Amino acid sequence: MQNTEDPKTILIVEDNLVNQKLLLVLLRHKGYRLLTAVDGEEALKVAAREIPDLILMDLQIPKLNGYEVTRRLKTCPATAQIPVVALTAHAMPADAARAEQVSFAEFITKPIDTRAFPHQIQELLQRYLKHPA
Ligand code: MN
Repeated sequence: MQNTEDPKTILIVEDNLVNQKLLLVLLRHKGYRLLTAVDGEEALKVAAREIPDLILMDLQIPKLNGYEVTRRLKTCPATAQIPVVALTAHAMPADAARAEQVSFAEFITKPIDTRAFPHQIQELLQRYLKHPA
């Protein structure tokens, strides 16, 4: 059950500020608490501090790439259960992730489908609720 007193927190990791703005605009009227990070180190810091319900992870970010950030999140007990959605322009992201041995909840290829995107995120949150009813 969704608890309206407890808005879901989404961390958006995206170094391209135009893309970041688009994601914020698409999600901002959906009742989420939205956080942002622009590189891998900031993503790890914010994720550890805030324990978001979902992370949207651009794979091509400075300092630590999205694969490495996700790998580290998955090895830390506090953040291991957070679903991480890869945002990628790569043609074969699932194969690349398998090669990197990183498990993502989902892959969303850029440019994102702006109509479908909010529904995709809502469905992912429902699928991965931290405390299912
Ligand atoms: Mn990028």
